[in-house]
Amino acid sequence: MLKNVAIAAVMVCLVLGIVACGGQKVPEAPKAEMPKPAEQAMTDTEKAEFVAANCICATCPSFLKEECAKAGEKGAYCLVGKSKVITEENGCVCPQCPVTAKMALKWGYYCTRGSAKEMMAMETQGGGGK
Ligand code: SF4
Ligand code: SF4
Repeated sequence: MLKNVAIAAVMVCLVLGIVACGGQKVPEAPKAEMPKPAEQAMTDTEKAEFVAANCICATCPSFLKEECAKAGEKGAYCLVGKSKVITEENGCVCPQCPVTAKMALKWGYYCTRGSAKEMMAMETQGGGGK
């Protein structure tokens, strides 16, 4: 008899518990914030314009003003690759150039060693870009 009463009590508790919870929604876990869209990648044209407008090669000790002018070179070697006239490395101001920061470049002496793209390829192949 007592056993039956205990079982009945347990059943009642269970039913009441279910009823109590039934109407409530389980709170949803907070949704992770959507990452903000990455800065739109620049087009090749925009890159070229930015490099041309910000290049400081002309202030560099390795830059040969007259020879470069005759060869039609205006710097931007990180984009266009090696110079036809600069052969000596007498210092490089690329680390101070806004292009280095904007494009996250990590090399220098592009005029004698090749474009950033070439440096990256060399590094990928284990050449080290130097
Ligand atoms: S990083 Fe160097 S080569 Fe490229 S734009 Fe700047 S100064 Fe010129
Ligand atoms: S790439 Fe570097 S070393 Fe060459 S001219 Fe430009 S700043 Fe000077």
